[in-house]
Amino acid sequence: MEQHRYQVVITDCDHGSIEEEKDEFGRMGAELILAQVQKEEDLIRVCKEADGLVNQYALLTQRVLENLPKCKVVSRYGVGVDSVDLKAATDLGIIVANVPDYCMDEVANQTVSMILTLVRKTAFFDKKVKSGQWDFHLGVPIYRTKGKTLGLIGCGRIGLEVAKRMSAFGVRVITFDPYLEKVSQGVELKDFDTVLKESDFISIHCPLNESTRHLIGGEALKKMEKKPLLINTSRGPIIDEKALIKALEKGLISGAGLDVLEKEPPDSQNPLLEMDNVVLSPHVGFYSEESISELKRRTAKNVVDVLTGRWPRSVVNREVVGKARTSIPG
Ligand code: NAD
Repeated sequence: MEQHRYQVVITDCDHGSIEEEKDEFGRMGAELILAQVQKEEDLIRVCKEADGLVNQYALLTQRVLENLPKCKVVSRYGVGVDSVDLKAATDLGIIVANVPDYCMDEVANQTVSMILTLVRKTAFFDKKVKSGQWDFHLGVPIYRTKGKTLGLIGCGRIGLEVAKRMSAFGVRVITFDPYLEKVSQGVELKDFDTVLKESDFISIHCPLNESTRHLIGGEALKKMEKKPLLINTSRGPIIDEKALIKALEKGLISGAGLDVLEKEPPDSQNPLLEMDNVVLSPHVGFYSEESISELKRRTAKNVVDVLTGRWPRSVVNREVVGKARTSIPG
């Protein structure tokens, strides 16, 4: 009897090559189609025979999912799964998987590099030296890192990686994370106000949601007694940017390192662009050649796992267990 050849469709993706995906699906002998479609009717047309989908931005609505009778799994490139109607997928027995941890190292390094750049005033001096000013007095005062306190707002995967790195610099690490009962790596759990009050550096590593939007606003900034450096490599709207600009202008904090902004890219008149004690990067924290390659491989691997009878490493809709379209033990 001829064995069924699985079909997998990549609905859309914006990275140039799909070599890693081809490799993963090739090894299980699946047919791989790169569709690059966004509209509901196109998605239904190209995916109707698919056993599994790989997805980036195309919206997999209830209507789309209801018209994919063979689909057993959707795997999303990255962490967020806003593009998939999770309830519909669960009701239909479709497993939704993601890759939450492909860039922890990169984001942690981005964070630490911002702290060190600000502490040592590297970007500031670079500008000065290149404009002909060879004078370290221009950057006075500079303080030692060892013995200072780093406060993490959120201490999950990335927060912990930052903690490990900064502990090696002799920094005490404290965190506010309302969902943790204890933290490893010598990190001390504190309440929000204590972190604001005691920290020389504050770094944000919680997700953006309704309770964290503008968590760092005018009130919080006023409670930062040590005039800390504020780092955000998480999501822009967690900081109220207007309040941040005011705090920087008034000297309530010493500087800021921002990989993410409320509006990306920023308006050309954004005052942050002119401030010497602000270091900016264009939401690059996630990126390295290795992280993108890992992301692609592991997104594909989620689909391979389901089609070969295994639970993928990260299932988003856990409620699907027991009603999945394909039988997977355990
Ligand atoms: P994670 O889920 O492992 O950790 C998030 C932590 O935040 C958890 O421990 C959680 O308990 C905590 N948390 C939730 N609500 C909180 C609140 N109100 N106050 C304080 N803590 C709270 O996530 P992660 O993998 O560490 O990623 C953290 C964030 O980094 C992501 O949400 C994402 O926004 C951001 N990120 C940015 C980039 C980039 O390119 N700059 C790349 C990847 C992730």
